[in-house]
Amino acid sequence: MTYLTVPIAAQNVEQARQQIKAALDAGAEMLELRTDYIEDLNVDLVKDLIAAVKSTGGKRFPVIVTCRDKRQGGSIAYPQRLRLEVLAGALKAGAEFIDYEYENFLPAENQERIRVALSGSLKGKLILSAHNPDVSGFGNIGKLYRSILTVYPVAIPKLVYTANHINDCFEAFDLLNRTSGERIIFCMGEAGVISRIIAKKLNSLVTFASLDEQSATAPGQITVAQLKKLYRYDSIDAGTELYGVIADPVGHSLSPAIHNACFADAGMNRLYLPLLVEGRAGEFDLFMRNVLSRKWLNFVGFSVTIPHKENALNFARNRRSFVEPLAEKIGAVNTLVVSKDDRIKAYNTDYSAALDAITSGLGITRAGLKELPVAIIGAGGVARAIVAGLSDVGAKIKIYNRTVERAKRLAAEFGCEFAPLDELANLDSTLVINCTSIGMHPNIDQSPLPAEYIRKDMTVFDTVYNPAETLLLKQAKQIGAKTIDGLSMFINQAAAQFKLFTGQDANIDFMRKVISRNITA
Ligand code: NAP
Repeated sequence: MTYLTVPIAAQNVEQARQQIKAALDAGAEMLELRTDYIEDLNVDLVKDLIAAVKSTGGKRFPVIVTCRDKRQGGSIAYPQRLRLEVLAGALKAGAEFIDYEYENFLPAENQERIRVALSGSLKGKLILSAHNPDVSGFGNIGKLYRSILTVYPVAIPKLVYTANHINDCFEAFDLLNRTSGERIIFCMGEAGVISRIIAKKLNSLVTFASLDEQSATAPGQITVAQLKKLYRYDSIDAGTELYGVIADPVGHSLSPAIHNACFADAGMNRLYLPLLVEGRAGEFDLFMRNVLSRKWLNFVGFSVTIPHKENALNFARNRRSFVEPLAEKIGAVNTLVVSKDDRIKAYNTDYSAALDAITSGLGITRAGLKELPVAIIGAGGVARAIVAGLSDVGAKIKIYNRTVERAKRLAAEFGCEFAPLDELANLDSTLVINCTSIGMHPNIDQSPLPAEYIRKDMTVFDTVYNPAETLLLKQAKQIGAKTIDGLSMFINQAAAQFKLFTGQDANIDFMRKVISRNITA
């Protein structure tokens, strides 16, 4: 059993009552009363807090009472003696769990106080916790885990450290995997977010989530609503298959929203995670090796985006894995699938997604693109997939880019023309495609193409999909040009990934609805 636990970090009992009600309404399964946030703390206040939980939620909601030492992340620096009194008082008042720092439990007098309090409680259990700025701060995390259980065999060890990189999370996962019983192990920080989401799959006793972003009590804590709605918390179990988008940054990605909604809609026991993989090829390769060497994590598929599409291709090549010829030609991979025999298969779904968005937007077939004059603005990853697709169907392509050398290289590879951005003033193409990030949320008042260069007889396709209607598309519409938004391409590539992940066709209309609900601007 994993309890979805909301920390109550209020300054007084009245504020706590409001937070308790909101947490239980939001779907919390357990509450942690962070008494170190309460001003003028005394034992009676703690009893009032426990009574408030029991009267608001009924007896079925267990409570952890914590009075965190300031040295381990506590709020107000209360003396050790008062903190011990608070924990003893909490047990008397019916708290199911108390959380005390392992380091503070070691001195004989503190230990004696806690042991006496526990012996007088019928159901109270002791969480012995350790928090560190990173995993190396623990020395050997496995040894620390065993030491806690040697000192107090019925303790619930709680080991928490900051993941400075997603690759730091694997020590926590390994410890959860090779131990059983009640224990709480996870990573803080943005790079540790996945450890909070998959805590339930790995059977940690607790995962912490906040009521809202402002009330988070630790870095990387996500909200109850995100866990329940976006990450399908209620349906996660040990058998849940894992998927995710590998990116940096990853916070803005709509892929978790679209894929999780589709998995839910199809009744599949699958979970799609945001995988923040910072760094270059070295970090990417290590992440993939970490995942693939732990079959029990059950990672099955990945979307890959900025800045790892080339790294994904090289990773697959170096393992002599299957690489779809199209992905080889484009020089980028945006989808990795792990087969049952642990082999990686690498694909690129951007190429077809873009061509389909263009042909359906123009109401023509791919053959109709032959000889069409197309201007591509940008020469990065998306431009590369689109240029590959359009050159295959025989379009006449000119690439405009801020870094002209990059446009030149791409143009040479696919036999196109190239030019610097200021030559957009002489634009004579019929189809113009923005493949830069200009105009993307939050910079929604920017456009890669001055409005005076847009003509009525043009079609303007913006690959930026957040917002769906960019300034470029707004201006093109005002002028009377035809427009194609980035959503169509995004949905097409996600639909193709869904098929590669599951073998089933995606429901495109449903995907469009999910994305429209999740667009932030
Ligand atoms: P990328 O490889 O990093 O390339 C970015 C491109 O934008 C480069 O050509 C870069 O020019 C140019 N650029 C960036 N900022 C600029 C600025 N301030 N002024 C002029 N040029 C600028 O990124 P990508 O993977 O190609 O993605 C680009 C955009 O495509 C994303 O932001 C996203 O909105 C969109 N996208 C859409 C989909 C979809 O399915 N609809 C999928 C993926 C991406 P330099 O070469 O000079 O740096």
